[in-house]
Amino acid sequence: MHNVVIIGSGCAGNTAAIYTARANLKPLVIGGHEPGGQLSLTTLVENFPGFPEGIDGPVLVERMKQQAQNFGAAYQHGSVIEADLSKRPFRLNVDGEWIETRTLIVASGASARWLGLENEQKLIGHGVSSCATCDGFFYRGKQIMVIGGGDSAMEEANFLTRFGQKVMLVHRREEFRASKIMLERVKANPKIEMVVNTVVDDIYDVKQGVVTGVKLRNLKTGEVFERAIDGFFVAIGHIPNTKIFRNQLDLDPDGYIISHGGARTNVKGVFHAGDVQDRTYRQAITASGAGCMAAIEAERFLEMEGH
Ligand code: NAP
Repeated sequence: MHNVVIIGSGCAGNTAAIYTARANLKPLVIGGHEPGGQLSLTTLVENFPGFPEGIDGPVLVERMKQQAQNFGAAYQHGSVIEADLSKRPFRLNVDGEWIETRTLIVASGASARWLGLENEQKLIGHGVSSCATCDGFFYRGKQIMVIGGGDSAMEEANFLTRFGQKVMLVHRREEFRASKIMLERVKANPKIEMVVNTVVDDIYDVKQGVVTGVKLRNLKTGEVFERAIDGFFVAIGHIPNTKIFRNQLDLDPDGYIISHGGARTNVKGVFHAGDVQDRTYRQAITASGAGCMAAIEAERFLEMEGH
């Protein structure tokens, strides 16, 4: 029987682990299908306080994990595939094996969103990617396309210019969600061509088993045109990892956990932390802050319950 199980090993989960471990609660962290969370897919993080020169995302998240382990947190590979929160102790199915816990911190984050094109799915790993940091290296001297108009798309487009001969940034509107500074960097980068008011209708070429080009459509003029590319990076946001909690935790229409004050969910003893609840800020530092809040609430809850 665990005191605290934390689902997710990103900033939120690791920070919750540091706090609950220091409170001697011996937390168990279930790493999830994307260990390290979003930070493990990013490059230089320049806005996490305490690192004036910046720090690589994967390094930062690994150091958080080490810090939690130093205080006695345990980490387990795997994913929670089923959960029963109907009574305490809560029961979690971790890749086929059920475990029990008095409290649960859900820090399972949010996963990359895809466009939903048939060929997109077929070509993932063969030119289609959602992670510039992971796959950018493969496109040295190649033609790259990035889809999206938020900070992620700007960051990926800029990053990919390190590798690609040229990067086309395709966005469905003229207005950008991206912050001004990130957008300005993209506009100032001579290797980036911006294509606005445009959507992707198809990706080629499944027959060859590799990305060779795309069919695009201008939403204002209706013009349909093709572009030859080698790499296709989708950066259009994320979907919260809450499928296993449907009908158990209160979720909003997009699947994000609805907070019941602080880090509390609608189920007593279950707390939320990070991107799985936060669709507004979604920063490493806010996720860490949320992990801290969830840990303190779990600690107080256990104390009140006499554990
Ligand atoms: P986002 O801000 O939600 O932007 C998603 C973008 O994808 C939007 O431009 C959206 O277009 C477009 N999009 C969504 N669905 C689409 C579809 N089906 N087809 C075509 N385009 C589609 O997501 P994000 O860029 O991942 O950023 C998420 C959060 O993380 C933000 O708060 C951001 O500031 C933060 N972030 C920060 C950094 C940094 O500071 N270094 C880096 C990355 C992310 P519309 O605008 O038309 O809806």
